[in-house]
Amino acid sequence: MSIPDLPPPLKRLGQNFLIDPNIVRKIVALAELTPSDHVLEIGPGRGILTEALSQAVGHVTAVELDPRLHAYLETRQAEFPNVELVCADALAYPVEHLPMGTVVVANLPYYISTPLLFRLLDQRGRFPRLVLMLQSEVADRLVAKPGGSDYGVLSVMAQYAADITKSFRVSAECFRPRPDVASAVVLLRTKAHRGLSQEEEVAFRALVKAAFAHRRKTLVNSLRDEGYELPRITEALQRLEMAPTRRAETLSVEDFLRLAASIG
Ligand code: SAM
Repeated sequence: MSIPDLPPPLKRLGQNFLIDPNIVRKIVALAELTPSDHVLEIGPGRGILTEALSQAVGHVTAVELDPRLHAYLETRQAEFPNVELVCADALAYPVEHLPMGTVVVANLPYYISTPLLFRLLDQRGRFPRLVLMLQSEVADRLVAKPGGSDYGVLSVMAQYAADITKSFRVSAECFRPRPDVASAVVLLRTKAHRGLSQEEEVAFRALVKAAFAHRRKTLVNSLRDEGYELPRITEALQRLEMAPTRRAETLSVEDFLRLAASIG
């Protein structure tokens, strides 16, 4: 088979390809892979990370949206026979069919990094670890603590689901084409059992979203504006001895969990 030329990168698909083997090594090392592991890679692109992953583990599922890159990778399949190449949108791919214990390792397409992250964390019982390259700004929001402007729905929901470390920053020089934004690699170690039922988790997420819906308002006003009845909110806060003047950004993840339980 003749090897097709590398297709030109598409900005709208977030195609900034890693070119630095040292960063690839650091990503793989961070994932603490063993030969029996199964890895999900989202957006294999030109295969720089895929190749390293295929050497480190028993099986890789690599989901690429761009049919041109998928076709290119197929021409290289002999180099990585343990990689299953899938041409699909990662947002629609049924991750719930992957084996339990699958490790996610990916240099994500930044334009969908947040919805993808939520989708993966929804299935966190399946994924003990995720090593993800993201915009540095998203990484900051993921690890943000209460009190700052980075702290919001993403921080609370992600920290509810995982212990998160912003491991290292990656210079724009390590990609071609160079991205316009700074990048960073994060490690998420998921927390499978948080003691909430599925319905309670849905209610918890709704509460956190409503609390942050009007950041400048107090928690009470923001929740009321989002449809929670005032007596229900004030009684829940009273039971917790939480001041009604507090704003959402001052509540820790544990505070939100206590509030969700109290509001019922
Ligand atoms: N892993 C490669 C690397 O590190 O060089 C490429 C990373 S590049 C930042 C993101 C990749 O995700 C691109 O190959 C892009 O085509 C692919 N992609 C974009 N949207 C996608 C989607 N919805 N589902 C799966 N892959 C997607």
